[in-house]
Amino acid sequence: MVCMRWEGQTATHVDADALPGLEERGSVLEQWPTPGFDGVSFMEITAKSALNRVPGDGFMGGSWTINPYRGCQHACRYCFARNTHTYLDLDAGADFDSRIVVKANLVEVLERELAGPRRAVDAVQLGTNTDPYQRAEGRYRLMPGVLQALARHGASISILTKGTLLRRDLPLLASIARDVPVSVAMSIAIFDDELQQQVEPGTPTTRSRLATVTAVREAGLDCAVFAMPILPGLTDTREHLEHAFGVIAEAGATSAIASSLHLRPGAREWYLSWLRQEHPHLMPLYASLYGRGAYAKREYRDWLRDRIGPLLRQHRLARVRTTAGTGLAAPPPRARQLPSTSQPTPEPVPTLF
Ligand code: SF4
Repeated sequence: MVCMRWEGQTATHVDADALPGLEERGSVLEQWPTPGFDGVSFMEITAKSALNRVPGDGFMGGSWTINPYRGCQHACRYCFARNTHTYLDLDAGADFDSRIVVKANLVEVLERELAGPRRAVDAVQLGTNTDPYQRAEGRYRLMPGVLQALARHGASISILTKGTLLRRDLPLLASIARDVPVSVAMSIAIFDDELQQQVEPGTPTTRSRLATVTAVREAGLDCAVFAMPILPGLTDTREHLEHAFGVIAEAGATSAIASSLHLRPGAREWYLSWLRQEHPHLMPLYASLYGRGAYAKREYRDWLRDRIGPLLRQHRLARVRTTAGTGLAAPPPRARQLPSTSQPTPEPVPTLF
């Protein structure tokens, strides 16, 4: 069965039947099921905006971000973006993994915004909320148009992904990198295959992500690895971490960063319900580390820092420089920087290092 609503294909259309928060974003085309995507529905929307402003320490005092999708089929149990799905009256658990909102007109809107009188957009980060190279991208192919539009505009580009689909766009990224700074980071957190499939059931394997790191390097680009989140009691053993940073270095990563798990609302319930079922003996540890908060207590983060720091040095992995507003790799340096303007002070993003 395929259900379609095509009415109101304009950006100004107000759709009374739309999902909450999407009423003014035009029509929604819902397809169920989609061949090759069993159990997943895509809600295509005509978005009104492509660029989001995040206060932080990027150029112009903040960062610009683009998120082609809401929800993510990679389905990481710890995903901090889960709660954003509740703004759409969808749940932060299974709906986040399987009901994916697609900004179908993203490239067109982005080109319009870049051509408009908006303040200079000289650095853009992709992957701040959900993964731009999740499986949906294989179907919708939004990223090539986004990258080309940003490159034409002269904006530097920073990408964080778990998606091996990134390899499709490596020739394009290598070409773009001749004109604008490009930073690529691969997120790889779990180096135990069985655990990885339990905690990140929709992601490509760790092995294939490491191979993607190598492919990025062979394309002539630097590649950072975000080896995070580190899961207390599961991936913080000396054995796991020594293996992790060893294979990250072997894959050719140029830098790395790690931090402990954050348990923000949405992710907290989803992750802990899995932990309670699979590793009930760890519940007291998590209660003592997190209490009711989102971040592991300082003593644990210091302990982890002391365990990881020597491994980074041993493998000559530079520490990734991140942007406070988004936590992503900071945009690569540019020869010309625009003058900063006063911006609201961002909420600090806790990290280990
Ligand atoms: S890949 Fe990133 S955005 Fe997607 S579910 Fe995992 S943590 Fe969330």
